[in-house]
Amino acid sequence: MAARTALVTGGNRGIGFEVCRGLLGHGLDVILTARDPDEGRDAAKRLGHARSALRTETIDVSSAESVAACADRLREAGVHVDVLVNNAGIYPPGTVLETDPAVADETFRTNFWGAFWLCQRFVPAMKRRRYGRVVNVSSSSGSFEDGLPGPAVYSIAKAALNALTLKLAGELSSFDDIKINSACPGWVRTRMGGRGAPRSVEEGADTIVWLATLPAGGPTGGFFRDRKRIPW
Ligand code: NAP
Repeated sequence: MAARTALVTGGNRGIGFEVCRGLLGHGLDVILTARDPDEGRDAAKRLGHARSALRTETIDVSSAESVAACADRLREAGVHVDVLVNNAGIYPPGTVLETDPAVADETFRTNFWGAFWLCQRFVPAMKRRRYGRVVNVSSSSGSFEDGLPGPAVYSIAKAALNALTLKLAGELSSFDDIKINSACPGWVRTRMGGRGAPRSVEEGADTIVWLATLPAGGPTGGFFRDRKRIPW
């Protein structure tokens, strides 16, 4: 059987880059996407993988047009996406009352709408092919149980991303081999997490790669950290 193909957003650095490495290690073909094409190409060089297994594409997830353009290019090239990892994110500070509306809008487009548009573009073909994995990279900041800790709009957008996971998994519940889940990577040493974070990128990527490669009997519609279900 041909290798499955995974598309990862924000694959040029941090957790997304490590997810690309992990998925290649699992034998998947990977489409590493970045908003800056040079950054994407540099990241692919750093991965140093066979060119046939690794492709780079440009996606600015905050732009519905950019998402659509990439989906059109892949369709024209005859490339099917079996696994979608919605990883790209930004982390602007601020409270509800103090966040600039433009920053709130960009945060929501990047951390929520990007994933929503990507699902709209790629999940229909998963339905036709009756196989798919979607991993929405969320955060404990998006957990109601934890009280939505963290910057206001970041937290609210991650909670909305979790809602997307639950809703889409419900819509696809009759498809046995399509799995839609959210992952919390924990606090990870990246540009976003900072140098003082306790987890390595390998630890942060582990649950995401696990969810992206779940077997047919695996869970759907859940929120996971360290491969264990956590409350929304
Ligand atoms: P990071 O090192 O800051 O990397 C963020 C990635 O997202 C970069 O590749 C960045 O691209 C990309 N990105 C940002 N805006 C984008 C856009 N509009 N279009 C396309 N790509 C965009 O962050 P990270 O720590 O790896 O975070 C990855 C995910 O994990 C995020 O969703 C984050 O919320 C989540 N997370 C992280 C932590 C943590 O402790 N690090 C904890 C919980 C959840 P550029 O290089 O072009 O900026």
